[in-house]
Amino acid sequence: MPSTGSLEVITGPMFSGKTDELIRRLRRARIARQKVQVFFPALDARYAGLDYGKLTSHAGAEFDASPARTAEEILRAVEDDTSVVAIDEAQFFDDDVLPAVSRMIASGLRVIVAGLDTDFRGEPFGPMPLLMAEAERLDKLQAICMVCGEPASRTQRLINGKPASLLDPVVVVGAGELYEARCRTHHSVPRE
Ligand code: ADP
Ligand code: MG
Repeated sequence: MPSTGSLEVITGPMFSGKTDELIRRLRRARIARQKVQVFFPALDARYAGLDYGKLTSHAGAEFDASPARTAEEILRAVEDDTSVVAIDEAQFFDDDVLPAVSRMIASGLRVIVAGLDTDFRGEPFGPMPLLMAEAERLDKLQAICMVCGEPASRTQRLINGKPASLLDPVVVVGAGELYEARCRTHHSVPRE
């Protein structure tokens, strides 16, 4: 009888340890001799802070992974003897990722997804709310606020050291841009 598939979602702001936690679960699956396949969105690697060919956490952990342009591409790449499929930075896929994940679950796979719950404005990010609703297990991690040291649930975008406004373009050419973890109190999104 085929095993029952399931979905685990690991979410939270940047630096909250999503990739570390994903890699921890994948290493344990490997110890259990389960075949693991890992995917991340094929964006401009520099922009997304991704290292081509592997996941890399801010603490330095690494795990082999393949870039995928669409969720459909993930479905096509999954091999027959695979038991665990992981997707990191899932916020960058579109809503098609949900039917793709549902199909993998229906075929008995354990699917583990990591991604940002909110963008720099504090708004739900891409397909993450849908995936969070679908999950059997959901972990919302927190980072440390870079202003006060309390738990941080938000990602602050800074352009040349100042909070990015709602109206700033997603890519600011030539500007020193940076993201840091902040608590709700210290997260700031000026309206102009
Ligand atoms: P995520 O995938 O959620 O962005 P990572 O798993 O890549 O997070 O990195 C988590 C690691 O980042 C932590 O274990 C810690 O070493 C480091 N780190 C750097 N800045 C912070 C911060 N503000 N809060 C918590 N951890 C931080
Ligand atoms: Mg990460």
